[in-house]
Amino acid sequence: MSSAFKISVTKMDFGVSEELTGKVYDAIIIGGGPAGMSAAIYAARYGMSTIIITEEIGGQVAKAGWVENYLGYTRIMGPDLVTKFEEHVKYYNVPIIIDSVENVERDGDLFKVYTINGDEYTARTIILTVGEKKRKLNVPGEDTFNGRGVSYCAPCDAPLFKGKVVAVVGGGDSAASAALLLTEYASKVYIIHRRNQLRAQKYYQDLLLKNPKIEIIWNTVVKELQGDKLLRKAILQRVDTKEVFELPLDGLFVEIGAEPPVDLFKRIGLELSQDGYIKVNHLMETSIPGIYAAGDCVDLTPRDFRQIVVAAGQGALAAYSAYNYIIKKYGFNRR
Ligand code: NAP
Repeated sequence: MSSAFKISVTKMDFGVSEELTGKVYDAIIIGGGPAGMSAAIYAARYGMSTIIITEEIGGQVAKAGWVENYLGYTRIMGPDLVTKFEEHVKYYNVPIIIDSVENVERDGDLFKVYTINGDEYTARTIILTVGEKKRKLNVPGEDTFNGRGVSYCAPCDAPLFKGKVVAVVGGGDSAASAALLLTEYASKVYIIHRRNQLRAQKYYQDLLLKNPKIEIIWNTVVKELQGDKLLRKAILQRVDTKEVFELPLDGLFVEIGAEPPVDLFKRIGLELSQDGYIKVNHLMETSIPGIYAAGDCVDLTPRDFRQIVVAAGQGALAAYSAYNYIIKKYGFNRR
């Protein structure tokens, strides 16, 4: 085992020590969601010196409500599942560094990883598991009331809306899951959806339709958010009749999907799909030998089947492929 395994530094969010930056890792995993955490566990078990560099721990799962379809857990809150993942990664002493990667460049046979904190890391392989970033509505008032009624994380903020009136924007699984969680606190939960049909799984649709606290406002978009110090109302517009109307609200949860960080992928020089996801083959190999990708940022998973279990599986496979690349290129005596 390399000495990297003996460093039990996690969640470093300011100036990392030379002990971490001065090494050549077998794998640097960029992104700390289920794909990255799963890759870390597999890489560590392959005896690869590994670190995770991530902006946040848990990715979208940390912002998810009840998770009821991840194997082994009948029902667990997203953030609690992330804690389980993190404990598992810690068990293998893989350092988790909180930082944002700006670029990855080839340096001979190795890769250099540059972060916003100004640190530089070196690795033989890279596993990209950066997931996606939540979409914003991009309407007037959204930024003004962010944290004053507008939220992008139901499990984080739902308890703040006990007895209040809230709305969720979106018609997918995330919106459905957020709305259901919010009914445990709020007195009324609107779902504002731009079409007359939900995209969410039938399981969720059935739960939404039979929940007396939930009312779906169909064919409607948010035009503006207004208030004083706090959010007070949303200005809505019907898509079909163009009618504009006000909805008094204490909270608005934006759950309209997410997008991959295309700019980073372009800087690295990866081959991408037209909509900016990383092209990988069945072994999670990208267009650059030595760089692997897994989870929500890849072009492999159907867009409507973003699942924690899929991301975790792809992460494991990416670590397997990175391991085989290293053994083939450097053999077993590379330290
Ligand atoms: P999504 O499936 O892409 O749904 C986004 C929703 O937001 C859609 O209903 C879309 O409307 C709407 N939307 C998009 N842009 C909009 C805009 N600018 N204004 C208004 N509405 C807008 O995203 P998601 O719900 O975050 O789910 C992402 C992935 O994670 C999916 O694969 C999902 O299955 C998965 N997920 C799974 C679970 C679970 O299994 N428990 C939970 C959460 C998420 P349209 O329908 O008209 O396109």
